[in-house]
Amino acid sequence: VFQLSVPLNFLGSVYRELRQSLLDMETLFNLQKVNVSIAEPPNAKALQLPQGGSIRFENVTFGYNADRPILRDLTLTIPAGKKVAIVGPSGCGKSTLLRLLFRYYDVQEGRIVIDDQDIRQVSLDSLRRSIGVVPQDTPLFNDTVEHNIRYGNMDAPQSAIIAAAQRARIHDIISSWPAGYGTKVGERGLMISGGEKQRLAVSRLLLKDPPLLFFDEATSALDTHTEQALMQNINSILREKSRTSVFVAHRLRTIYDADLIIVLRDGSVAEQGTHKELIDRDGLYSQLWSAQETLFNADGTEVETTKER
Ligand code: ADP
Ligand code: MG
Repeated sequence: VFQLSVPLNFLGSVYRELRQSLLDMETLFNLQKVNVSIAEPPNAKALQLPQGGSIRFENVTFGYNADRPILRDLTLTIPAGKKVAIVGPSGCGKSTLLRLLFRYYDVQEGRIVIDDQDIRQVSLDSLRRSIGVVPQDTPLFNDTVEHNIRYGNMDAPQSAIIAAAQRARIHDIISSWPAGYGTKVGERGLMISGGEKQRLAVSRLLLKDPPLLFFDEATSALDTHTEQALMQNINSILREKSRTSVFVAHRLRTIYDADLIIVLRDGSVAEQGTHKELIDRDGLYSQLWSAQETLFNADGTEVETTKER
């Protein structure tokens, strides 16, 4: 009995490992299998970024069902090396922009170009390697914290993983856990808060260090103090490396310093400009801003949200 139990345990752990890899792959496939008609032309070339990564949506029309367009004749430019914010009511298509950019779906009309290359003409692999994203709902793998961050760059030395976690303001928290970077997270691991999950996702992205960065409500679960500290770190990295970045954020305080703010409504651009230009314009953005300013105390200090969601 004793002799038998050893190989059985061994098989059990092999089985668990295998099952885990299959789960991980399933997660990836679910993301990529969304539309099987996505294909690259034969001998597709790798995406080049001679201009530093400027993204342009040209007259894009798209709906998950062709008879219900989400984006209608949408034209917008995300200039290379700039920080751009996309603002608009929930359900207006902000995350959809990201899915189209990644080619999880193709546009029905118009085109998306990066540095003058139609994204349908370049290799999918090069496209997806060039864009990093902190998605609205961060997938965590059932694995250690270290592996979850390393997923951004499999070859990274441990020092780079720690540096990324420090910049994402999660290193101290990880260090306080008994197993540190070896802590298991994910469905069957340690239950971590939404804000900790988001900071792991930011660490993963900073480690990947792609030329184009997309933050989709990436700091929504953080308290305002932590959010501001994290945004400062992210801003200085983006500036230092002149990266093209797009921020989708509900709290306008997170993005009001963007080089360009694009306000979406009914599937197209309602208005765009800097914070000051949009406030002077006294339109939709200005209304949204005023509505959120009520979250500030009379003396101008912020009403702190202290609880992480
Ligand atoms: P936002 O990020 O601005 O809140 P989304 O881009 O996620 O909005 O969604 C835009 C619209 O598309 C919403 O009405 C949403 O219900 C719909 N939608 C999103 N994903 C899908 C999907 N996979 N299939 C069908 N409809 C979807
Ligand atoms: Mg969204």
